[in-house]
Amino acid sequence: MHHSQEHPLTHDSRGASAGEKQATGLPRIVIIGAGFGSLQVAKGLAGAPAQITVIDRTNHHLFQALLYQVATAGLSPADISAPIRSVLRKQSNTEVVLAEVTGIDLENQCVQMGKRTLPYDYLVIATGAQQNYFGRQEWERFAPGLKSLEEATGHRRKILSAFEAAEMESDPQRRQALLTFVLVGAGPTGVEMAGALAELARKALARDFRHIDPSSARIILVEASPRILASFPEKSARKATQALTRLGVEVRTGTPVESIDEEGVVIGGERLEAKTVIWTAGVLASPAGKWLAASTDRAGRVQVQPDLSVPGHANVFVIGDTACCLQHGKPLPGLAPVAIEQGRYVASLLRQRLAGQPTRPFHYHYHLNLATVGRSWGIVDAGRIQLTGLLAWIFWLVVHITRLIGFRNRAIVLFQWAWAYLTFQRGARLILHESKIAYFTNSFTDEGHALIGDPADTSAGAQKS
Ligand SMILES: Cc1cc2nc3c(=O)[nH]c(=O)nc-3n(C[C@H](O)[C@H](O)[C@H](O)COP(=O)(O)OP(=O)(O)OC[C@H]3O[C@@H](n4cnc5c(N)ncnc54)[C@H](O)[C@@H]3O)c2cc1C
Repeated sequence: MHHSQEHPLTHDSRGASAGEKQATGLPRIVIIGAGFGSLQVAKGLAGAPAQITVIDRTNHHLFQALLYQVATAGLSPADISAPIRSVLRKQSNTEVVLAEVTGIDLENQCVQMGKRTLPYDYLVIATGAQQNYFGRQEWERFAPGLKSLEEATGHRRKILSAFEAAEMESDPQRRQALLTFVLVGAGPTGVEMAGALAELARKALARDFRHIDPSSARIILVEASPRILASFPEKSARKATQALTRLGVEVRTGTPVESIDEEGVVIGGERLEAKTVIWTAGVLASPAGKWLAASTDRAGRVQVQPDLSVPGHANVFVIGDTACCLQHGKPLPGLAPVAIEQGRYVASLLRQRLAGQPTRPFHYHYHLNLATVGRSWGIVDAGRIQLTGLLAWIFWLVVHITRLIGFRNRAIVLFQWAWAYLTFQRGARLILHESKIAYFTNSFTDEGHALIGDPADTSAGAQKS
């Protein structure tokens, strides 16, 4: 939007009345999130007779499926993300707002961001999912998850600095605890992370230290249920276990985690001293269900109608990981292709609605589930077609390259993977400490902008500029 136009953000907490149009007279479509689902909605509405606003709490779209590569120093954060503004810059009917949504006023049809509000005529919510600690939130401190770039670079810092600390440690027990890495949860993320960590220790770092043998690191993948990769066929999961074992990963199934602290974990009655524990188990939907006071499933996902709208609110849609969408009586899984197809569907539904045309219910056609173990072994589950091994890994590579946003990212990631494949080296082996340089954020407690991390005032954490 051009800067001379009236800014739609209002400080009036009442918001605008239902159906009220802005000066342009065009209907306002507000999309919360700029992830897989929401970007498809925004892009599908390019040139549509509507005024579109995309709100995200980060300034980048993130390709979460490759976060484990950032955490294990294979890729850099910028390789798997794209600035939202630049993705949508050619769409003159769309503007981007960097802010965290805190609630929705359904009666007055406006989105709340602290005290700021933004009115809508149509609302699409695609705020994804967060880590599920199954009621043991206190474990998050000791076993952070892998959902954001901040978490991925934090894991990278911890993993690489564990090897550095082990190099300086003379006590064998303490050294072993530094070189023990536990992954809790053996879904695709846990499996991929375990494989990548094993290769980091056994190949990339193997000859770089003088006092320790990095390949002696223990990587333990813990799973409460009887087998790994519950969403894949049993035969493929068995082969994946063998592939992990070949890389030296210890796979412990049927062993629920009983406790986690700073020094390690207790699993299946056994105490394991481990300085690094990573949570890769379970997801919980974003709090959108609470904002809407809508009925949700056990994972907090909003139960939506066949056209992905919220019951009783035909102009409010929930898609992706935040939605519980039933097909043949079963909820669709929290996967990128589901969010992408739902986003495309909502974009075309909104176009039809704006044109006064009839609409059809959503139907998910695609079935593709992928995972990798290390740099050359993969699994493809495409319904009737099942593949494991190198061919499946090549397929995984092609799918992931095509899903990355932006030509730059595709080219760079392809080059990095080719380099890593040939040399076993990792290009992003950086230990970065958090800086004290301040930055601005849209404050959620007042109506101005806050300065975070100001070295002069670290106690309050925020200062008005
Ligand atoms: C580590 C990991 C690995 C994965 N691997 C795979 C895989 O291999 N294959 C696969 O198909 N799927 C994979 N997934 C799942 C896949 O990433 C999700 O299904 C997909 O991203 C869902 O899309 P979405 O649009 O619902 O949400 P997301 O893509 O998560 O986007 C949500 C957006 O909403 C924003 N947001 C959230 N809350 C707020 C708020 N209050 N205010 C403003 N903005 C907000 C977030 O910043 C984010 O940009 C993986 C997920 C993770 C975490």
